[in-house]
Amino acid sequence: MHVKSVNLETVCGITSTLPKNNKMEIAFAGKSNVGKSSLINALMNRKAYARTSAQPGKTQTINFYNINDELYFVDLPGYGYAKVSEALKEKWGKMIEKYLKTSKQLKIVFLLVDIRHDPSENDRNMYEWIVYQGYQPIIIATKLDKINRSQIEKQMKAIRKGLNAGASAIIIPFSSLSKQGRDEIWELIESVITK
Ligand code: GDP
Repeated sequence: MHVKSVNLETVCGITSTLPKNNKMEIAFAGKSNVGKSSLINALMNRKAYARTSAQPGKTQTINFYNINDELYFVDLPGYGYAKVSEALKEKWGKMIEKYLKTSKQLKIVFLLVDIRHDPSENDRNMYEWIVYQGYQPIIIATKLDKINRSQIEKQMKAIRKGLNAGASAIIIPFSSLSKQGRDEIWELIESVITK
């Protein structure tokens, strides 16, 4: 898809009401620092529209990016952030859960994991949670440029196993540096839009 316009249209905090959008939504979940903003920026062809972790003041919100007035990218709060209280973590969890439960327009949920590491318990919980809400998560293995080519297969296997994802689960390796994987992700999104 040629991204002509991008607009951060809605930002939801813990107490906000979720928007009732009438266009398809594509959600992105993953622990903080996994490379979620970098992926979203790469898909939108923007350098730093979605804020990356390196930028101070990044708050935990659900951000709705309107793309071309055709669809929304939904940036879910990064989980597993060490510096916050359990109570706040629980609130974010509830916020994500509420979104997954109530969105009428959600078509794809991408779950991001770092290709270098075995999935954490948080990752596994998130995967199960998405499945429980009736979605088949598409896994994106981020930071592909950080491992050797010879290790890709092994890491993909470890991720599949660690998330308890079946043989049919799709895993797409991605690098925000080389942009490898970007076309495949867009193809997947487009295949759903045009259905
Ligand atoms: P977020 O917290 O999930 O939104 O993660 P960010 O997109 O802010 O990325 C966290 C850090 O990882 C930043 O320093 C990024 O530059 C870096 N990063 C993200 N994606 C990649 C990637 O594909 N390759 C490499 N080498 N670094 C990445």
